[in-house]
Amino acid sequence: MPELPEVETTRRGLVPHVVGRRIQGAVVRNRNLRWPVPRDLGKRLRGEQVLAIRRRGKYLLFDCPHGHLLVHLGMSGKLSLMRSDVPPLVHDHVDVQLEGEKLLRLNDPRRFGAVLWLPEPAENHALLAGLGLEPLEPGFDGAALQRLAKGRRIAVKHFLMNGRLVTGVGNIYASEALFRAGIHPARSVARISRARWDRLAKAVRETLERALAAGGTTLRNYASAEGRPGDFQARCAVYGREGEPSVRCGTAIRAERQGQRSTFYCPRCQR
Ligand SMILES: [Zn+2]
Repeated sequence: MPELPEVETTRRGLVPHVVGRRIQGAVVRNRNLRWPVPRDLGKRLRGEQVLAIRRRGKYLLFDCPHGHLLVHLGMSGKLSLMRSDVPPLVHDHVDVQLEGEKLLRLNDPRRFGAVLWLPEPAENHALLAGLGLEPLEPGFDGAALQRLAKGRRIAVKHFLMNGRLVTGVGNIYASEALFRAGIHPARSVARISRARWDRLAKAVRETLERALAAGGTTLRNYASAEGRPGDFQARCAVYGREGEPSVRCGTAIRAERQGQRSTFYCPRCQR
């Protein structure tokens, strides 16, 4: 599933090739994504110019003079820039045609992705209004996390993975960040000191940035947007490493169910 680093890698890969270009229209081969693709998408987009590409949580926003094209990659989506004469494959559901014989193509086998047009200020849209803190933005620090945790008694891993509190931190990144910060995933947020919140904020950011760097390297030679999460996963310290020695202390990594997900942690390094 594309996580925040893959979405951000996609965004960074597209910016130099797409920002400033005009949109000529859209081809929708299958409207049945997570929400129906608007019937008039092509009409809405025709003549618009992409002024900026932003990310909010795992949503990509293509800012245009009269609204925003919103794209979500869902469970299996990939958004790539290609020449407009490349024939579509079976799961290529939406093309956005750009000037200069290029197009943005959404391939999404499982169809949990989304392509919408938001005429109003994007921030007011129901999908975006309730999103939590952005871990890669400057205000993401120990003080902000501690404020957000005030009055709550949930496990710190659930706190990190709740998109209404913190956006874009999936299971892998939450597990890795908690290992980096030395915090047990089941610890209540009511029992975390300010110094440990500081460490955790830093650990979340560093974990995501390392994943971004791994995705970024696959992008360098190719003017398309393709993240490879596997590159990061191969370098995980705890995630998927049950029974292997902790890189810090040699104790065997444990795996436990926590809510719906598996949690991986070192019982000695994480308290
Ligand atoms: Zn350890």
